[in-house]
Amino acid sequence: MTVSIHWFRRDLRLRDNPSLTAASGSSERVYGAYALEDLEPLNDRQRAFAAGCIKQLRSTLDKRDASLTVLDGGAADALTSMAKRLGASAVHVARAYSGRELALQQKVGEALGAIGIALHLHRGHAVHEPETIAERKAGGATGYRVFPPFYDIWKSIGVDFATPEGACNARDPSPGPLPEPPSPLAVPPGEEAATNQLTRFAAARLADYAVNGEYPARNATSGLGAYLRFGCVSSRTVYRAVAERMSRSWTLAQERMSMEAYFRRLALADFFTHLASFDRTLHDEALQEKMRSFGWSTDAGKLGAWLEGRTGYPFVDAAMRQLRKEGHVHQRAGIAAASFCCFDLGLDWRLGRDAWMRASIEADEALCDGNWQWIAGVGSDQAAYPRIYNPEKQARHFDAQAVYVRRYCPELTRLPTRAALAPWQLERTQQVELGFFSPDDYPRPIVDHDEAAHEFLARYEAHRAKAGGS
Ligand SMILES: Cc1cc2nc3c(=O)[nH]c(=O)nc-3n(C[C@H](O)[C@H](O)[C@H](O)COP(=O)(O)OP(=O)(O)OC[C@H]3O[C@@H](n4cnc5c(N)ncnc54)[C@H](O)[C@@H]3O)c2cc1C
Repeated sequence: MTVSIHWFRRDLRLRDNPSLTAASGSSERVYGAYALEDLEPLNDRQRAFAAGCIKQLRSTLDKRDASLTVLDGGAADALTSMAKRLGASAVHVARAYSGRELALQQKVGEALGAIGIALHLHRGHAVHEPETIAERKAGGATGYRVFPPFYDIWKSIGVDFATPEGACNARDPSPGPLPEPPSPLAVPPGEEAATNQLTRFAAARLADYAVNGEYPARNATSGLGAYLRFGCVSSRTVYRAVAERMSRSWTLAQERMSMEAYFRRLALADFFTHLASFDRTLHDEALQEKMRSFGWSTDAGKLGAWLEGRTGYPFVDAAMRQLRKEGHVHQRAGIAAASFCCFDLGLDWRLGRDAWMRASIEADEALCDGNWQWIAGVGSDQAAYPRIYNPEKQARHFDAQAVYVRRYCPELTRLPTRAALAPWQLERTQQVELGFFSPDDYPRPIVDHDEAAHEFLARYEAHRAKAGGS
């Protein structure tokens, strides 16, 4: 009898799971396992969410007369012991791409190899594997470093059908205790919740995503971030759901634009994964060599005000408070907050990145590094100058009725809309009348945006000139 183990990592699902399907196809008996070492690098919200997903996965497998073994201690020792105990000759896993996930995969592979057990690697969480895109580039051994040509290739490759459902079909007599998720969780965990979220999004919000998705107050994005991060639904299943709607003859041109905008976002996630898989230094160092020696600030006071959402710029503060409260930030507001961190405050992009990694339920090292480097103007973005966003203009454009800023900064609810977006512009008499800017109330801007932006650009230009850049 051939026996194998499927090691669940960032693929906490049964459907469209190539590794699980391969394990089922090549062995008569398949055990499921999750190693708690995979929870260690995560933030508290992520650990709680993952614990909820694992609990659901175990309960689903239980109903199928199978089990999910939860492995304590180091994954390498725990998986080799489990394999020996159950007589498994192979372990199957969805491949990792970079960082600690890749390091652990290699460590487990070596430990299993030492006792003659193979670790079989299967497709990972990207829609298209980094190598599939890179091999289409002339001299592509190092992959793409800018998004547009990457995206052209990404779009041109088809996504095949879902893999037939694989299954664990064996019960481990010692499955180990589950990590207990706190209740209730902010995002409902598990494969069913992910599938329902995708179905709802594809049926309704997707059609207007390109327009409504840009406005933080409208709750019009897919809400799939955490599910994609933990693989409760595969990125290829999401792609197919969108492509299926796009292929319908009655889909309107405007709706197609929304679907294309959504593909672009999925491709961006793949792009940052691609970058990290070809360049292992990006967590610590800027992609652009000449920006590695740029003098970023580490000012604790400014960092603290930014983290707490007390910069005096409502759109930035709302974003940071949303991140702290919900572990998620709307993309548009997140970009404004990150730009403010790097340019208005001149803070090191790694400090901002770390804050995101500590708080976001979607946090993914490659995606977070990629976004922060891009926003800070040190990464894959090829623009000649950093894109410094004016927080007031962003607010007026993307939150014209001040719904978003009032939602997260309740101090602003008593201000008229115009002032809620830029409270420092209130007449002095109004400030007194409304009791605004008292020490316990909403803060005055900690920097003047125009001055800070000019000062930053001057330093940026001087640095690039000295470092030999344009
Ligand atoms: C500074 C900063 C850091 C970020 N860090 C992360 C991160 O660590 N992990 C993460 O999943 N997203 C990150 N994002 C992207 C984005 O904020 C979230 O993916 C998005 O808000 C998730 O909500 P949603 O699924 O409703 O978004 P939707 O707009 O519905 O997007 C759908 C999916 O596309 C992908 N996606 C969308 N935008 C991006 C993007 N800019 N970069 C990479 N993938 C994207 C995600 O998988 C997302 O779930 C970051 C954005 C910023 C500005």
